[in-house]
Amino acid sequence: MNEMKVLVIGSGGREFAICRKLKTSALIDEVYCAPGNPGMERIGVHPVEIQENNFEALATFAKQHAIAWTMVGPEDALADGIVDYFISNDLKIIGPDKQAAQLESSKDFALNFMQKFHIPTAQHQTCTSMEEVDAVLAQTSYPTVIKKDGLAGGKGVFIVENQKEALKILTTLKVSPQSPVIFEEYLDGPEYSIFVLLNQKSFQILPVAQDHKKIFDHDRGPNTGGMGAYSPVPQFTVVDFDRTVNEIVEPTINGIHTMGFNYTGIIYIGIMMTANGPKVIEYNVRLGDPETQVVLPRIKNDFGKLLTECVDQADLDPIEIDSQAYVNVVLAAKGYPQNYVKDQRLPEFTIHDKGMIDYANVAVDDQERLIGNGGRILSVIGIGDSIKEAQVNAYEILSDYPVNQTYYRHDIANRAVQE
Ligand code: AMP
Repeated sequence: MNEMKVLVIGSGGREFAICRKLKTSALIDEVYCAPGNPGMERIGVHPVEIQENNFEALATFAKQHAIAWTMVGPEDALADGIVDYFISNDLKIIGPDKQAAQLESSKDFALNFMQKFHIPTAQHQTCTSMEEVDAVLAQTSYPTVIKKDGLAGGKGVFIVENQKEALKILTTLKVSPQSPVIFEEYLDGPEYSIFVLLNQKSFQILPVAQDHKKIFDHDRGPNTGGMGAYSPVPQFTVVDFDRTVNEIVEPTINGIHTMGFNYTGIIYIGIMMTANGPKVIEYNVRLGDPETQVVLPRIKNDFGKLLTECVDQADLDPIEIDSQAYVNVVLAAKGYPQNYVKDQRLPEFTIHDKGMIDYANVAVDDQERLIGNGGRILSVIGIGDSIKEAQVNAYEILSDYPVNQTYYRHDIANRAVQE
C-alpha cells in the first residue's frame, strides 16, 4: 500500500482538474488542496483552510502532513516566491522560482528573454516616461497594442484603433519607471495554448488547447479569465505544430536552461499563428484556466508519476495522448466579468458518461448544499469521440442542469467544428 500525499495550491476550476487527475494516480493516496473549494469534497479531495499567499502556514502544513510534493496552480503565489520559500524549507514543490516567474509577472522581462533567444514575438518598445510615449506615438500605426507591465489578471492589454484611444488609456496607466508600458505590434491570426512540463533535464509537450476569452458569443464583449476551451484543436495542423516546436518551444526551453533558471513545472506558451508564422503572445508560468480542464483528461500517463519525475529532476516519460475530445463550457454568474450575483443553488450532479463538472467558485449554504460564489462558478466538460460529439454532450448536460442567474457562451468549439 502506498502512502503518498500531495498538496495542490489554489481554489479554482484549474485546481479542481489537477486534483481530479491526481486522484486517478496509482502512486497517490491523498490529495489536499489549499484553500481548495467545497466542490472538491465531491471527488474525495481534502480542502485545507489556508490561503495561497500564507507561505508559512502552507509549509508548516506540508511538513506536518508529510506531503511528498506541492503543485502550485495560480500565478500570484509563484510571482511572490512560494517556490523559493518551500525550497529554503527543504520541501519539494512544482513551479518556477520568483526569478523565473518573471516570464509571466513582467512582460518586459519576457520580451528581453525572447529577444535574447531569438524567439519570434511582436515588435515592441517599452516606455518608462510620457516623453518616451510621445516619441513612440509619433510613429505608431493603428491598431496597436498597449500593455501594462506586471500581473493584471488578464486586464492589462489594450488594443487601440487611434491616437485618441491610446492617449485615453495612457492617462489611466500613469507611465513611470515603476510602472512601464509596452507598445506592441498588432498581430492577427488564431491563438493556441501550448503547455510544456519541464525540469532541469527534460521536457514534454502536453495536448494543445484553444480557449475563448471574450464574454459573449462570436468573441464579442470584454475579455474574461476564459469562458471555455477545447482539445484537440484540429485546425492547428501537424505542420503548424512542428514549426511551433522548432521556432518557439525548443528555443524557450533551451533559453530557460541556458539562463540557469530554477524552473520545475509548467510553462504555458500562448501563440498566435500569423501569416509570418507562429509568434509568442505571452508566457504563463503555470497551467491555464479553462484549458487545464480539457488538457489533463487527455493525458494517458499516470499524472502523479509524471509530476514526481518532474520534481525529482528525472527524465520525464513520453506523454501518451488520448484521442478523445473534451469541450469545456464555463458557467459564470450573471454580470461577470463586472459585478456579479452570488448564492445560486447548484443542482447535484450525478456521474455521467457524456461529461463531468469541475467546480470553481462555489460555497456551501447552511445545509451544506453547493451554491455559486460569483465569477466563474463551474465548468461543464463534454466528452466525445470527436469535438462535435463533445460539444453536443457539453450543451446537453448544461440544458439538463438549470442554474438561475448564470450565463454561458453557446459557441464554444464552433471554430473546430466549422472548419
Ligand atoms: P495577454 O494577456 O498578453 O495574453 O493578452 C490577452 C489577449 O490580448 C491575447 O490573448 C490576445 O488575444 C490579445 N493580444 C495580446 N497581445 C497582442 C498582440 N500583440 N496583437 C494582437 N492581439 C494581442
